[in-house]
This record gives sequence, structure tokens and C-alpha cells, in this order.
Amino acid sequence: MINYRTYLTEEEIPTHYYNLRADMSKKPAPLLNPATLKPMTAEELEGVFCSELVKQELDDETAFVEIPEEVREYYKTFRPSPLVRAYNLEKALGTPAAIYFKFEGNNTSGSHKLNSAAAQAYYAAKQGLKGVTTETGAGQWGTALSMACAHFGLDLKVFMVKTSYEQKPFRREVMKTYGAEVTASPSETTEVGRKILKEFPGTGGSLGCAISEAVEAAVTRDGYRYVLGSVLNQVLLHQSIIGLEAHKAFEKIGVSPDIIIGCTGGGSNLGGLIAPFMGEKLRGEKDYRIIGAEPASCPSFTRGKYLYDFCDTGKVCPLAKMYTLGNGFMPSPIHAGGLRFHGMSTILSELYDQGMMEAVAYEQTEVFEAAEIFAKAEGILPAPESSHAIKAAMDEALKCKETGEAKNILFGLSGTGFFDLIAYKQYNAGKMTDYIPTDEDLEAGLAFVPPQPVE
Ligand SMILES: *Cc1c(COP(=O)(O)O)cnc(C)c1O
Repeated sequence: MINYRTYLTEEEIPTHYYNLRADMSKKPAPLLNPATLKPMTAEELEGVFCSELVKQELDDETAFVEIPEEVREYYKTFRPSPLVRAYNLEKALGTPAAIYFKFEGNNTSGSHKLNSAAAQAYYAAKQGLKGVTTETGAGQWGTALSMACAHFGLDLKVFMVKTSYEQKPFRREVMKTYGAEVTASPSETTEVGRKILKEFPGTGGSLGCAISEAVEAAVTRDGYRYVLGSVLNQVLLHQSIIGLEAHKAFEKIGVSPDIIIGCTGGGSNLGGLIAPFMGEKLRGEKDYRIIGAEPASCPSFTRGKYLYDFCDTGKVCPLAKMYTLGNGFMPSPIHAGGLRFHGMSTILSELYDQGMMEAVAYEQTEVFEAAEIFAKAEGILPAPESSHAIKAAMDEALKCKETGEAKNILFGLSGTGFFDLIAYKQYNAGKMTDYIPTDEDLEAGLAFVPPQPVE
């Protein structure tokens, strides 16, 4: 019988990240300079990002990148993460399928984001920078980064979307405890913030707006750079640690997953989980069904367009070709805060466009129903984001029940839900609402997409 939890030994822990782009024959589209519509050069990007991270962002060829010794040491405080066989969930569903999940919530920030925060803080410190700036929506990324910056001795300035800053004080206080300066966005401390406040007084802010402020705060300060917790190629590279560990753990138990599932906000936990498996699929060695699960209220894959778009409202960032709802898309306040971004990783966007992966969208209430079943069966209170993956895994397991197939299903449990109890409270009170944007809402979001470059 396979253990409930499979861990790697210290000798088995991966020493290198895996760069999925190396095995893609058609590479993800490059980031473009919005002024010239030419690919961003390393020099241009280095004004905003750390040098080593720029190198990783632009490197489509190197398959394996060594994880720095110091980062590997830090990982030991919360990794390896277990590969769990969800026996109790299987029993609750009465499915012949075997369900596995890779659990990334076992650190104070409560999610996989610490994997990339650790690497990014390390490279920034090694470059001799004083600090970094970033934005955070619901606060998961800011929390993870505050931990990593405290560890590697960096100053951190976080622009937190104002509605979250006011309504979700808990992560804000965790960030402050780790030494970060947290500012509600939009703020009076940046030019772009002042401009947005003048245009929309009383706005609760948005992720796109907080990105613009964080970038400005970095480029106008000596010794600071901007860091981002999802979407970028470098982030997916760091998150490959999830998939590499999972792949090794499956080897150990002599099992191969048939279906691999993850929730998708900007694409980093799914991109990391699938990396080595998708590599095998791209090289024609093996086949897997790969599924991204997203909220119906912010459906980048299932209803977005594959276009060059801005990543931020202030339009200071490079253009990325991705499945996007448009930088003008105003997501309704959904509880899975980490899944509210209008765009998607360019790597996953290209793979989706090539038909190498699928996507499904779920409404909030059904996602929380899945979360409740999972919590009762497996004991872990899941993050609302992760619960989209749980819902998709349960759906696949229930299909197996109909067909009698004993498939192996793997999903990414990207985090825990202890900071999301306001959402659980609404669910428990029967007051959760489902919102699906209309076609008109989507059209409005795409109205500000820039003219497309000629390919
Ligand atoms: C941020 C977050 C996500 C979504 O981000 P991705 O980049 O798509 O992984 C998912 N789950 C949790 C727990 C998060 O904190």
C-alpha cells in the first residue's frame, strides 16, 4: 500500500530548477517594449528587475538552472513538501481513481509563493541591492516576500490593494511583523497613485494599479528593484521545484499520474507543478492530461483572448502576449483573491494555444462546496484558490466512478485558507454569490488592449 505521505530524503531534493521553455519548440512570445513594439532587451529590463532574474526571464534555452546553495538551505525550513495520497477523499467520493495532491501550504505565508520569493530575495541581496518593491492583492505574495526579505536582509516596500488593506488586516500585520513597509494602493506616495486617485477618488484600488505604483517606487529609488510573484517566466522557473519534487516522489512509489490539475491565477503554481511532466509531453516521451482550473468570474483561459496586453493599469509594464481579459477588465470582488489577475503566464498561454493543456472555470459556491468536502476528508483547510483545483480533481474522480476507470489524478494544493475565513464565513452563512461576467463586461475589458504588433 502507498503511504499517505511521500517525502523526499535530503539526497533526493532537486538541486536545479527546470526551465520548461527549453523543451518548447515554439517558444512563448517575448515581452515587448510598448513604445517600440520590439522585444524588451536585458538592458531595458534591468532598470526594473534584478540582473540575474532578467537573465532567467529571457533565457529560453537552458534546461537546468542550479538552485543557489543559500536558497536550498532556506528551502529546508519548509521543503520538501509532501505528496499526499488522498485516501479519505477517495473514500468520500466512492471513486476507483487514486487522488494525489502536492501540498504547498506548509509555511507561515501559507502558499507556494515562498518558493519564488526565496529565490528573488536571494538574487536581489546578492546583487547588493538595498531592497525591493512589490504589489500584493489579497496579501499572499507580500507575506511570502516579507519572510524571504527578512531572511536575506532586504528592505521591502509593499503596495497592497486598498480594499484588501482595509478588509484583510491579518496578512498586512504578518508582513509588518517580518519588517515590510505596507502602503494602501492607490497612494499619494507615487505619481501614478496620485493620478489614479484624482481620476477615481475613493477607489478601492486594483492589482494592476498597485503594480504601477510598485514599479514607480522601484525605478525612482537608488538600490531598489521591482519583483513580481506570478505570471513571469522566472517565477515559473522557481516554482518548478514543486513539479520536480512531485515527479521524483511518483518515481519512488512507482506511480505515474494520468491527469495533472492546478488552479490558475497568473499560472505559477500550475506552471511549476506541471514543468517536468509537460517537458516529457513536449519531448514525446509521455502523455498527460493537464488542466488549469480558474474562477468563472475571472476566466482568462476559457473566455479571454490570446493577445499582447499590458500587465498593469498604469501601462508602465512591458506588453506580454497572453490569454487576457484586457487590462481594463474589472473583476468582481471574488473570494479567491489570488486568481483575480486579468492575464496569464505567457508560457502557459502558448501551451494552451498549442492544445497541450485544457482549462475549466468554476463558480464560487461550487468551489467552496468542494473545499468543505476536502477539509472534512483530508483535514487541511484549503485556500479558496486551491479549491478550484480540488473541484476539478473531484470532477475527474467522479467521472472515473461512472466509467470504472482507476486513473491517477494529481492536483496542486497551493495553499491553506486560514487567512480567508471571511470568505468561509460567507459560505457558511449561505451568503456566497456567484458572478459571471457578461459578454459586454468582457468587451469593455478588452477596449484598452493596445494595437497588436504585426507578426
Ligand atoms: C497566489 C495564489 C494562487 C494563484 O497564483 P498562481 O500564480 O496562478 O499560482 C493560487 N493559490 C494560492 C494559495 C495563492 O496564494
